[in-house]
Amino acid sequence: MKFIDVHTHLHDRRIIKDVMGIVERAENIGLHYMVTCATMEENFQKTADLAVTYDSILPCFGIHPWFLDTLSPEWLAHLEGWLERIPSGIGETGLDFLARGADRDLQVAVFKKHLTLAIDLKRPINIHIRKAWDALIHVLKAHGPLPGGGLVHSFSGSADLAQLLARYNVSVSFSGSVTRPNTKKKIRALKAASLDRILFETDTPDIFPTLDSEQLSAIEAANGAGTGLNEPRFVPAIVEIAALRRGIGFEEMADHGYNNALRLFAPLMAAGRENDGDTQ
Ligand SMILES: [Zn+2]
Repeated sequence: MKFIDVHTHLHDRRIIKDVMGIVERAENIGLHYMVTCATMEENFQKTADLAVTYDSILPCFGIHPWFLDTLSPEWLAHLEGWLERIPSGIGETGLDFLARGADRDLQVAVFKKHLTLAIDLKRPINIHIRKAWDALIHVLKAHGPLPGGGLVHSFSGSADLAQLLARYNVSVSFSGSVTRPNTKKKIRALKAASLDRILFETDTPDIFPTLDSEQLSAIEAANGAGTGLNEPRFVPAIVEIAALRRGIGFEEMADHGYNNALRLFAPLMAAGRENDGDTQ
């Protein structure tokens, strides 16, 4: 089976020194690509360096709604510069109306700038949404379907929303949160989403999945127990639990997740990078 982790933060200071090990352990279990998202201008360079060093790391550049207080006056030009220089997606960006002290108008304005870039450049976009579904749909309605596609990461919305987002060419990504014991709403969304729209992620180094003892001992036997921080190598365990909850086979679910991610992020992959060089 093959896997892609569509949302990680490999630049994170808790794990940056161990990225070589993280990539190796991921590749050992059939994880072909991991998408790493910057969160603010300060980590754009680190995110680019990771993508240049490892073919399996695909970069996204954006400003996370938690970090709008870090915006420099030239943030949009900085973002555009990185998007021009490196085949990359956009994100992490989005709307978080749970976040304390975050100015909602500013969040919407900054998110719209990211969305406009995604549409103009036909790039995939990696979106964070917490308690801001109406605002998201409002913005998507105004901007139309996304030509390069997108995803809502660690999806926490309703079953109806999972279906509605498909109209805008936006897929839903399930994280370790779908492995928790009491997560009825997420399971309803997982069951309602089209199999052509389901993706999987770890949000490394956070959202460590709840694994059963058999999965844990298999992981320990293969690569050691690790640091207690999340890693892309845990995607298969998340897919396995999601398959069980959706009521389909592990392999079938893995194939859908892989093919959906491949379709969305193909422009960022090595072949895509070469093509970019040839055609520009
Ligand atoms: Zn994230």
